[in-house]
Amino acid sequence: MSRILIIEDEESIAELEKDYLELSDFQVTMENTGSKGLDRALKEDFDLIILDLMLPDVDGFEICKQIREIKNTPVIMVSAKKDDIDKIRGLGLGADDYITKPFSPSELVARVKAHMARYERLTAGAVPVNDVIEIRGLKIDKTARRVWVNGEEKSLTTKEFDLLAFLAKNPNHVYSKEELFREIWEMESVGDIATVTVHIKKIREKIEINTSNPQYIETIWGVGYRFKI
Ligand code: CA
Repeated sequence: MSRILIIEDEESIAELEKDYLELSDFQVTMENTGSKGLDRALKEDFDLIILDLMLPDVDGFEICKQIREIKNTPVIMVSAKKDDIDKIRGLGLGADDYITKPFSPSELVARVKAHMARYERLTAGAVPVNDVIEIRGLKIDKTARRVWVNGEEKSLTTKEFDLLAFLAKNPNHVYSKEELFREIWEMESVGDIATVTVHIKKIREKIEINTSNPQYIETIWGVGYRFKI
């Protein structure tokens, strides 16, 4: 559900906006002073902010300016005076839209929807890229915690995944069983370094074509393991 922050000191207007937006399935948060509204806008992630210009402490100009310094959240500014709208535009504060009081609540909702759709389109191309390691047919998606071998997905347990991802992230580095145990199992009391051997075996059964001639995790006799690159 999309979240909207209303920063408005006139309670009747804030309530009216809230009612209409909630009817359109938006989740609404209200703040009635500039400082509280600004604080919230900076600390939390809203999908859109409706910002009144005249507020008792920090005014809408300042709030918009500060939000824009760190966030791209769409901002619709609300003002009682038409002159102010021209002033806001002139200042180039980065507000996305302006609306003059009195306005019809349905018009506000229509604008909110339009800006949200536009913002979603803009940000759709900027989805975060997953952290993926790909080596000779082995693909490890560390963000999604999934593993594929030649396009076929393999199911690894949490520790198997952690161990494989750790070795693959540090290829050509030989780790002793003790180092791997500390790295992956940390302070967990259960198990011992033999656990490492067992997990390496399980991982190989899942990712290697021939476990007696492993292509990915190599055993360095008397020392430990390394991921071949
Ligand atoms: Ca006001």
